[in-house]
Order: sequence, then structure tokens, then C-alpha cells
Amino acid sequence: MPIRTVILDFDGTCTDVEREAEGFLVRYKQDLARVLGRGELEADWAAAESAVLAAPARHGMVIGGHLVAPPVDPYLLATSISALLEPELPDAETERLFKENYRFTTTAFKPETREVVEALAAADVAFYIVTNSDPATVSGKLDSLAPAGRASIRLHGDARKFLVAEPVVHPGSARFAALAASHTVKGWERPIHTRRGHYFDALESIWAETGTSPADTLVVGDVFELDLALPGVLGCRLHLASGPRTLDYERVGTAAFGGTHGNDLREVLRLIP
Ligand SMILES: [Mg+2]
Repeated sequence: MPIRTVILDFDGTCTDVEREAEGFLVRYKQDLARVLGRGELEADWAAAESAVLAAPARHGMVIGGHLVAPPVDPYLLATSISALLEPELPDAETERLFKENYRFTTTAFKPETREVVEALAAADVAFYIVTNSDPATVSGKLDSLAPAGRASIRLHGDARKFLVAEPVVHPGSARFAALAASHTVKGWERPIHTRRGHYFDALESIWAETGTSPADTLVVGDVFELDLALPGVLGCRLHLASGPRTLDYERVGTAAFGGTHGNDLREVLRLIP
């Protein structure tokens, strides 16, 4: 079935997340030190970072008592470190730490992003960006890139792809009701939660708006568990925008749904009509 809707994640998919997050990490660490009532965190942070990276299946972003994302980018790594340093950190504080310090990211698009975004805006597809980040900040970053066709990019921010919950906008959806609670990927020691109702709401709204369906939708993201696992279970075409921190299970998990992966975002353009 030809692709009629393309949904891109933003951070780490369109952007060079390592460069972009430098300012974020400085402020996040200061903010976390304040929350924990400590003067500084350098030594504890470094020790926690080593522990997280040594066992990525056992650490990650924790929301609602669920491990919901692995530590595969600087934002998720910071969140994983907070969860390790303070296991009782309330969810609201976990989300606030990310959201408030996201303002201190810089703008660093991947070199090929303009070309890809312009091609998608010109293609015969509905083109959306769905991101956990603040929509105003992401919109400003897109304005600064100023791609041709900027006006045709539709943006869903605050997607909260990490939230395991019932959908709010589409309660009682048969599509959601049919979802299993979790999904298993060969070689990954913990199950992946798929009933992410808030992300589901964003996807379902897009399908309602465009009259398209999972089968003719391509979803592109850099974090399998956050961006691709739910769309994969729903029957979307997947592409993993991989990078230096991508874990093997992410490629395996994407391929299990018939998806593709690659470090150059231009590979997406081969998948559309
Ligand atoms: Mg991302």
C-alpha cells in the first residue's frame, strides 16, 4: 500500500541531539541538584551515568512506575540518571525537569534535514511532526530552518509518548482496546509497554484528519521504544533513524515489523511515492 501519511519524530530524528543538548545537560544537572538538595552532583552523576550505560535494559525513563524508554539520547540519559539517583522522584518532577530545561537546547539540525523536510513537504503525502517536546520551541526551530513548504508541516507537540495510560481524546477506541499490554523484542530482557494512550491520541487524530490509516502511514523515529513500538503494533510502516547510541534491539525490533533503519535521514525519501 503506498504511503499517504508521514510522521516524523523531531529530537534526534531531525536534529543532531548530541550538539543540541549541551546547554540542556548543564541546566538539567543544576536543576536536579537543587531538587535533590545538593550543592553539586558531578561525582554522583558520573557514577550513575556509567551504571546506566553499562546496563541499558535495566535503566531508563521511569513514568507511572514503568520503565518506558531506554537511555539512548542525552535527554533520556539525563532522565534515567534522575531515576537512579532518586527512585522516588514524582512523575510530575520527571516531566518538569525535561520540559523546563528543554528551553536551553540549541538548534542543531542534521545536515540532511532541510532536504528531507522540503521533499516531504512537496510530496503527495500528509506530513506531520509528532514530538514530546514543547510545540512552540519546536515550531521556532522549524522557522529558523525555514524550509520551502514550511506551512505544510503539521506539528503535534507534548505527545508524551512515554505515558502508559488510556487514551483521553479517543476513549473506548476499538483499535486501542485491541492492543496487548506489552511487546517483546528478541534479545531485549524486558517487555516494551505498548498501551501509550497519549501518543495513540495523536496518531488517531492524524488518521481522522487525513482519512488515512496505520497501513498507509510511515512513522520515522530515533528511539524504537518511544517512537515506533506502538505504531508498529498498530500496523504502520516503520523507519528507525539510527545513530551512534542506537541499541541492537532497536534495529531488531524495527525489522521485526518489516521496518528499515539507517543513519542518513534521506533514506526516508526512498519509502514514499
Ligand atoms: Mg527523538
